[in-house]
Amino acid sequence: MTGWFQTRVLAPGVFVTLEPAVHPMFRASIVTILGRDRDLQFDFGCGLLALRPALPLGAKPVVAVASHAHVDHIGGFHEFADRLGHASEATGFAGQPGVETFADEFRDWPDPVFHPPEPGWSIADWTLRPAALTGTLAEGDRIDLGDRQFTVLHLPGHSPGGIGLLDEVGGLFLSGDAIYDDEILDDLPGASIPDYLRTMDRLRTIDFRLAIGGHGPEMSRPRLIAIAEDYLRRRG
Ligand SMILES: [Zn+2]
Ligand SMILES: [Zn+2]
Repeated sequence: MTGWFQTRVLAPGVFVTLEPAVHPMFRASIVTILGRDRDLQFDFGCGLLALRPALPLGAKPVVAVASHAHVDHIGGFHEFADRLGHASEATGFAGQPGVETFADEFRDWPDPVFHPPEPGWSIADWTLRPAALTGTLAEGDRIDLGDRQFTVLHLPGHSPGGIGLLDEVGGLFLSGDAIYDDEILDDLPGASIPDYLRTMDRLRTIDFRLAIGGHGPEMSRPRLIAIAEDYLRRRG
């Protein structure tokens, strides 16, 4: 069914795709950045329908990076050959049982979707497809698209291997679920409030113009700092 995915252009070569019919708890930002030599795909939705054909990707090689191994960010990760993420969540990406991807929570959610992606579809047909990492990313690693470079920031707290990508020159920050303009989830299995406090403290110091969070609207730098400082006040 067309229209399952909805893509917006934020800036030249910068796109955010959502699955509007997915329950807001699991409706995550799917970010595409077109580069001169290669493209970047950051996060992958819930995996209800094939994602890649719906994305504004061209014919260039694609670097696929997952912010972390929660179900709402890695559903379509398996559709990409070159899959990067943080090593501490490798078992989640690989689909090993007993690891916190929250796939079972999504399947058992009362209304995971507002309407089915295809006629006759049922959540019982859905599985989170394993997508083992083909390479790992760590703090300070660089992703080079030719005309844009991103630096990997390791931002644990929401999950142990949460990463953000920062384009210092372009002023663009992809923050995943490390920070977003919505309720911050820090009490999930695998989350750590002490780690989150350190991450929020660090996030206050990062320079950028626009941040795209894993959920919620885009954030200006003042807005992101306000969210981080609110968290530090509440939990610090
Ligand atoms: Zn998450
Ligand atoms: Zn999420």
